[in-house]
Amino acid sequence: MAVAAKPFWETKSLAEMTDTEWESLCDGCGRCCLYILHNEETGDIFETDVGCKLFDPKKRRCTNYDDRFKHVPDCVKLTPENADALSWMPKTCAYRRLARGKGLPDWHPLITGDPKSVERAGVAVSPDLIPENEIDDALLESRITRTR
Ligand code: SF4
Ligand code: SF4
Repeated sequence: MAVAAKPFWETKSLAEMTDTEWESLCDGCGRCCLYILHNEETGDIFETDVGCKLFDPKKRRCTNYDDRFKHVPDCVKLTPENADALSWMPKTCAYRRLARGKGLPDWHPLITGDPKSVERAGVAVSPDLIPENEIDDALLESRITRTR
């Protein structure tokens, strides 16, 4: 009887993965490029439909990834060391899930083989996000869409 080999995300730690494996964990949801609001008293984190100025919501990609820190100094680079500590990341994010000992969700493209499964699962951001430079900070609260 043939026994299927386990996939890399079940056998390697985040730190052991190759760059290609690491990159393939990103499901392309785009939710780490949204503005979030943090209630420091309750710890609650709220997601808005306002996107980072470098984010293209139609392609769900950063438009200047290599140079992003020049333009968005507070953009956070995910690493095997910080993936667990970034509590504001969406609970669906593969990096956060694996760092916390969870598996990939069954809609993850590495499991379905189809990048569109992220949209079908309702995890991807809307293509109609508001760019941050089109909204006043004072109005961010009115753009909350869900709790993280
Ligand atoms: S939240 Fe995680 S899975 Fe989604 S785009 Fe960001 S890094 Fe990728
Ligand atoms: S700089 Fe790029 S990667 Fe960072 S939050 Fe903005 S769009 Fe996302």
